[in-house]
Amino acid sequence: MKGKIVLEEHLSTTLNNSLWDAGSEAARNGKAYMDDVESRLLDVDRRLEEMDRNAIEIAIISLTSPGAQSIIDPREAVEFARKTNDEINENFTARDPRRLRAFATVALHSPGDAADELERAVIELGMLGALINGYTNVGSADSAQYLDEAPVWEFWDRVAQLEVPVYLHPREALPSQQRIYEGYASLVGSAWGFAHETATHAIRLMLSGLFDRYPNLSIILVHLGEGLPLMLPRLEHRLRMQHEGVGLGAAKRTVGEYLSHNFYITTSGHFHTAGLHSAIAEFSTDRVMFSVDYPYESMAMASEWFDNATIAENDRERIGRGNALRLFKL
Ligand code: MN
Repeated sequence: MKGKIVLEEHLSTTLNNSLWDAGSEAARNGKAYMDDVESRLLDVDRRLEEMDRNAIEIAIISLTSPGAQSIIDPREAVEFARKTNDEINENFTARDPRRLRAFATVALHSPGDAADELERAVIELGMLGALINGYTNVGSADSAQYLDEAPVWEFWDRVAQLEVPVYLHPREALPSQQRIYEGYASLVGSAWGFAHETATHAIRLMLSGLFDRYPNLSIILVHLGEGLPLMLPRLEHRLRMQHEGVGLGAAKRTVGEYLSHNFYITTSGHFHTAGLHSAIAEFSTDRVMFSVDYPYESMAMASEWFDNATIAENDRERIGRGNALRLFKL
């Protein structure tokens, strides 16, 4: 398919690279894979060449996980977000402003500052929303602030005013919550742990009442919805059965209603046609979007799968391009 648009495509910066030790990623993924990923995260030319080769017209790029979310010091995180967005603007999107667009980095340690930075990134830098890597560490590596929690609503208020989507991207579970993976280090990240962490975070958002206060918020979920298309009917069924117990939390509507009104999902890193059919069935064909997860995944592999997947051609057009054009007002 020609003219595809992708939106979970990652980059890094020298500032970001100076903060993280890639040792645990290399241990999990192997050195050769991570060396290749790390050089591609910094590269613009190869990215554009691969987009050409695979008929991808536009990529919405974002800083790789965990980014600002795992900086412990709030002031440092706020400063990091501002510098990162400037660097994305100068070193990446400026190279081809039509084909490379971006999601802003924001530091939710200070929701007011995050709101201001998002507004600056959208209005002054032309960014298309924010990508947030799960919970935010505030003060220590084992503390978490989830996006549904009270202080963050100040940020959501601005998101609603700006009418831009937020991409909810995974990160590893809190160190103190990784006991279940002990002895199975391969499961902590993208192979399994990301799905559990991010799907649960999305459900927290649904049950918090956030979408009752701000009914037009749009959240984008990764990796074909991290299992939610399949699990949601059971979640909804069991929550209903619990209505005389702890109940449904602050939410006024069912999780299925929030899912189909406030969420979009992408195919990033999950190139499987039965899963795509299940996602279309739960979300509607207007809320599923093609993406790769470059450079952790290959544009060629993703495109080869998507271009040939057994779906209707008008669905391929929507999922590969039309839905993104509409959502991002491109
Ligand atoms: Mn990703």
